[in-house]
Amino acid sequence: MEKITRDTLEKILLNRTHLVESYFFCKRQFFLNLFGIYNHNHNLLEIGRVMHKKRDNTEQEPVKVDQIDWEGGKIIEFKKHDISFSSEIQAYYYLKRLNSYGSTIKKAVVRSIEKRKSKIVNYPDQAYEQYISEMVNYICSYEKIPSRKEKRGLCSNCSLFEYCWVE
Ligand code: SF4
Repeated sequence: MEKITRDTLEKILLNRTHLVESYFFCKRQFFLNLFGIYNHNHNLLEIGRVMHKKRDNTEQEPVKVDQIDWEGGKIIEFKKHDISFSSEIQAYYYLKRLNSYGSTIKKAVVRSIEKRKSKIVNYPDQAYEQYISEMVNYICSYEKIPSRKEKRGLCSNCSLFEYCWVE
């Protein structure tokens, strides 16, 4: 398979920032999504669509976050269940993008609707930068789509469960 260059990846992530979350959730999901394989009928995606219809007027923004609190100087991302590391770093990536466009917003709040918990993510942060750098290195050196996770129980919340597990 043809390798992805850093420039190409940068362009892909400009318009498809959500792929960062996919990568940290599951590398295989990242590549499947990258090549256009989605399951739009999955109930979690439907929940996401309903939530995103309620977004503020951000449709023209390059970074489509769930909500921007301009006065409070923060972005807010909503998650239905747990606040995973992948959603944390996705929020960080949004901050990184916004700052690259000259925004002064340095804080993100990731909120779990079900658990009523929040996680604060600040920009800049060396540890998140390191993860993003490792992500870029991995994607730009990949040779084939990674295998599915070891146990199907780890995939129960994934919209591509049937794709990977139904044989
Ligand atoms: S079903 Fe599992 S292995 Fe397949 S993309 Fe989803 S999380 Fe990854």
